[in-house]
Amino acid sequence: MAMTSAQASPLAPEWLSVPADQARLDAKLWAEDVDRGADGVVRVDGVPVTDLAAQYGTPLFVVSERDFRTRAATFRDAFDEAFADLCGGVDVFYAGKSFLCTEVAHWVREEGLGLDTCSGGELAVALRAGLPGSRLGLHGNNKSAAEIVRAIDAGLGRIVVDSIQEVALVGDLAVQRGRTANVMLRLTPGVHAHTHEFIATAHEDQKFGLSLTTDQGPGQGSGGDDASSPAARAVADALAHPGIELLGVHCHIGSQIFEPEGFELAAQRLLGFLAEVRDRHGVELPELDLGGGYGIAYTEADEPRPAREIAQAMAAVVGATCRDLGLAVPRISIEPGRAIVGPSTFTLYTAGTTKTVRVDAAANGSEVLEDTSVTHPRRYVSVDGGMSDNPRPVLYGADYSAVLASRTPEAAPVLSRVVGKHCESGDIVVRDVYLPEDIGAGDLLAVPGTGAYCWVLSSNYNYLTRPPVVAVVDGVARLIVRGETEEDLFRRDVQREPASPGKAEPATDSGASRTA
Ligand SMILES: *Cc1c(COP(=O)(O)O)cnc(C)c1O
Repeated sequence: MAMTSAQASPLAPEWLSVPADQARLDAKLWAEDVDRGADGVVRVDGVPVTDLAAQYGTPLFVVSERDFRTRAATFRDAFDEAFADLCGGVDVFYAGKSFLCTEVAHWVREEGLGLDTCSGGELAVALRAGLPGSRLGLHGNNKSAAEIVRAIDAGLGRIVVDSIQEVALVGDLAVQRGRTANVMLRLTPGVHAHTHEFIATAHEDQKFGLSLTTDQGPGQGSGGDDASSPAARAVADALAHPGIELLGVHCHIGSQIFEPEGFELAAQRLLGFLAEVRDRHGVELPELDLGGGYGIAYTEADEPRPAREIAQAMAAVVGATCRDLGLAVPRISIEPGRAIVGPSTFTLYTAGTTKTVRVDAAANGSEVLEDTSVTHPRRYVSVDGGMSDNPRPVLYGADYSAVLASRTPEAAPVLSRVVGKHCESGDIVVRDVYLPEDIGAGDLLAVPGTGAYCWVLSSNYNYLTRPPVVAVVDGVARLIVRGETEEDLFRRDVQREPASPGKAEPATDSGASRTA
């Protein structure tokens, strides 16, 4: 491709650069087997997106099965190797909430991972795919008794208990079922990871988990004195309950985290807590779960670290902390979701309406120019989906990128905004991206990194049908979730009985006075 000499738009965010080569696919954003053929068409393992669009329609989620499996195996191996000498290895639980259907649960099972669920519905999908209960976890800050019973009856490897009330609820239900529940306690270590940083505080002002700090108010448990933390009281209650096998403690400090420091600090605080439990109760709990949250690249600005690097940094801290505390290294587990499925998938859309507006750069929040009357073009490209198949830009202001996928990009790049077809002006798919200025109706656009928290959050807003998911491997595409049809839209709509033939509808005066 010829180098383009287009100038950066003053409307563009600072991190966005004008692509030197618009045909290039930035490797960190795409599944490993996605490339662009000589004809300019983007392909997945050799299958052109034009064929996928013709066969399955758009919008379409396209997942590279090989890429998903490779990332799952990479986490498994990287953490296993890093922790091999400390605790014999790591259990990796794929966080099903990021994306789940029975086919993906089969991949998880075949790659030797466990699977974390956070509702009875997710648990049902995992069980339907034949995952043994021993390899499943159940999370949630407000599990129903029915969900807990289902988990106990399925012999779940771990129920992650989130509150003092739930210790008793899970324990009592287990006793009623004549079983013992495997329990981890979710603690809030006072470490919050934000995208590029983390903050450490004593307190946690959020709905999840049991606090490690003591000034939470008395009267919330029976197991300890009032001066002990909710976490300490929950441990005492759990150890005393005949229906509970207490495996250890758990934390999840956030999502889309790039640096290991937050994980390291959380590990130190939880190991410190395990040492307190040992000192007080004379037991060393055998397991420590450090949650998920490993970041991925959504745009050129994101620089995630390889799993191996994070694993080694975490192993070093866990090893040193346990030595300091004189604690045997517990069995470690982690729960990545986004980092396994996110980059494996892209969404394919068809472009429709386009328009260009001219925007005052000063009003856009950019630096005030000498001459504020200067305006700059922003091109709007509408696609056939939007916030119903990817609500993350609306929910979190998430950034994505996009490429022209059905032909070689040749026209000059222009600052563009990819928008959906919903009746909301905030219905943005990609806020800022340089796209060829001739993109128009019928062109295919591909948005990478949509594997996690897109399809699972999809809705029928505006009565759009939810898109299908297609998996590609070895040059073959197959449907793993079919798209909804118009009939699906009526499936739960309780419609009136059709009028019986003999009984005519009351006559109306044929609209004569209906112009009001
Ligand atoms: C959401 C969640 C995860 C997965 O987070 P990712 O950012 O997708 O890795 C893991 N553990 C728990 C408890 C979660 O709630």
